[in-house]
Amino acid sequence: MATIMTLLNEAQLPDSPSARLDSELLLAAALGKPRSFLRTWPERVVSREAHERFDAWLERRRAGEPVAYILGRQGFWSLDLEVAPHTLIPRPDTELLVESALQLLPASPARVLDLGTGTGAIALALACERLSWRVLGVDRIPEAVALAERNRERLRLGNVAFRQSHWFSALAGERFAMIVGNPPYIPSSDPHLREGDVRFEPKSALVAGQDGLDDIRQIVREAPAYLDAGGWLLLEHGYDQAEAVRDLLLSGGFTQVESRRDLAGHERISLGRLPC
Ligand code: GLN
Repeated sequence: MATIMTLLNEAQLPDSPSARLDSELLLAAALGKPRSFLRTWPERVVSREAHERFDAWLERRRAGEPVAYILGRQGFWSLDLEVAPHTLIPRPDTELLVESALQLLPASPARVLDLGTGTGAIALALACERLSWRVLGVDRIPEAVALAERNRERLRLGNVAFRQSHWFSALAGERFAMIVGNPPYIPSSDPHLREGDVRFEPKSALVAGQDGLDDIRQIVREAPAYLDAGGWLLLEHGYDQAEAVRDLLLSGGFTQVESRRDLAGHERISLGRLPC
């Protein structure tokens, strides 16, 4: 009979900064308890069912599958989201985009668009923080739209909706005060695509042409037709793409163009405003 402590100490995962955290998340989920339970009850004997579940999940993790896909859940902002392999796993980096959006637009009624919403993470975080906004999240992939909608229902947010659209394709005639997005931006030849968790994520959510900017170019070109006068566009991008994205925004007629840094000091989002 194994205890929580022995199972955690003997869990064999390849050496990585997240190995201990990964085993804790998997064991807590196998027990159906919060992670704090493991610290409180290290001597507790683990049932055979939970032990078997834990072993099966460890095996999948050893094969490289991301913990978020094994458990079907990922935390983002203050929200617990369902995730699935047809969407990107929400990352803490993207919280910078949410913070900036909240800061730029006043908390009064406004329509906000999230492009390539995936799990709905950005749209749901904004809707939850600003009940006066009406947020629309769009995605090209029907399974992502259905997943985002399940997350919306579980969070019981009435001021956000999801719709299938490839960028602006289903939005003719609509206008927004702010458009945000975390589009694909990895260059197709980037060797990181063959390492770690991203191997399991959909290429369509990650890769955007030779320089990674194909989708950002299209979004910057088309966004002005869907923005109010004085409206904002905010996009996440790679750590080395800020200057290129600022150039795109400036030549696209945006003003007040700037980039913002994440906690690691990298410029990871760029934004601009249409003139009034
Ligand atoms: N930041 C992600 C990564 O490096 C990529 C997300 C994206 O392409 N939108 O794995």
